[in-house]
Amino acid sequence: MVIVRALSGGVACGLIEFSAEASPHFIRTKRGRNGASAKSRMITDCHIHIQPMEMFKPHALELMKHKRPNFDQIVEFCRSPKAFLKFLDASGIDRAMLINYVAPEVIGFTSGVNQFVADYVKEDPKRLLSCGSLHPRHTTNVLADVEQILRLGLQMIKIHPPHQLLFPNDYLSGAKELEIIYRAAEANGVPVMFHTGTSIFPGARNKYGDPIYVDDVAVDFPKLKILLAHGGRPLWMQTAFFLVRRHPNVHLDISGIPPKTLLKYFPRLEEIAHKTLFGTDWPGPGVPDIKKNLDEFRALPLTQSVQEQILSKTALTLWPA
Ligand SMILES: [Zn+2]
Repeated sequence: MVIVRALSGGVACGLIEFSAEASPHFIRTKRGRNGASAKSRMITDCHIHIQPMEMFKPHALELMKHKRPNFDQIVEFCRSPKAFLKFLDASGIDRAMLINYVAPEVIGFTSGVNQFVADYVKEDPKRLLSCGSLHPRHTTNVLADVEQILRLGLQMIKIHPPHQLLFPNDYLSGAKELEIIYRAAEANGVPVMFHTGTSIFPGARNKYGDPIYVDDVAVDFPKLKILLAHGGRPLWMQTAFFLVRRHPNVHLDISGIPPKTLLKYFPRLEEIAHKTLFGTDWPGPGVPDIKKNLDEFRALPLTQSVQEQILSKTALTLWPA
C-alpha cells in the first residue's frame, strides 16, 4: 500500500504529478511569448476560499453573509469554476490555491471537501490548485483518508488549529493520526499549510492559533514543506518571522494581512522573501477585493525582484507550473 510504503521507507510515492507545460492562458495573457519568463511572472494567490457553501453551519454562514456585500457572487463562484476563472482574469491572478479543510465542529466542513475541490479544479488544473484536509479526530481510518487525498492529486493539506480545535504538535501527546498525516505529506512532497493567528468565526478557539506549536512539526519533519498562513496575525507575527528564519522548511503566506500593514508587521520581509508567498484569504470576512489587495501589494516599497519572488517564484518552487 502506497502510504505504508511512504511511512516505512520515507520514499516519495510520486502520486502527485505536476506538468511542466505553460497553459494557453499564460501564453495568451503574459507579455511576450517566452514560456520561461512568462512563467516567472505568473501570479499565484496561495490562499483563496472556494468551498462547498452548503456545508457551512448557520452561524458561520451568517458571518460570511454579514461581512460580504457580494455574497451571491461568491456562492456562484463556489458553484461554477468557469465564472470564478473569469473573476481571476479580472483580478490579475493566474493561479489560485483553493483552500479546503475539515472542521465539522466549528464551520461544518466534512471530508467531503476533498472530492469537492478535486472535481472543481478539473475545469483548469493549471490555474486552479487544490488544497484538501483531514481531521485526526474525525477519521476512522487515517491511512485510507490520507491515501484518498494523494489519489485525488490534492496539492496541499490544510490544518486549521483554531477551527479544528487542536495544536499542530498534538502528535506528541497521543494524536498519532497527525504524525501519519505529516509523514505522508512529507514523503509525497505535499506542503502542509497551518492557519496561524486569530479567527473570529463563532466557536473558534484562538489559543490554537499560536504558531509556536508548529516549531515541533518543523523539527520532527524536516523535509515537510510548511506554510504559516497569515503569519500569526495579529498576535504572533514575531513568532512566525522567527520560525520562517529558523527552519529551512517553513514558509510565510501573507494572506489576510492588509498589504498596507505588511511591512509594519514584517519590517524585515526582504530577508525571508525567498520563502514568502502572496495570498489574499478572499472571500474571508473583512478581506478586501483581490485586485485591490494585489494593487496595494504592488505599491509597497519593495524591489521589483522581491515583489516577483513573493507574487510568483516562491509558489512556483512549491507547485511548478
Ligand atoms: Zn483562510
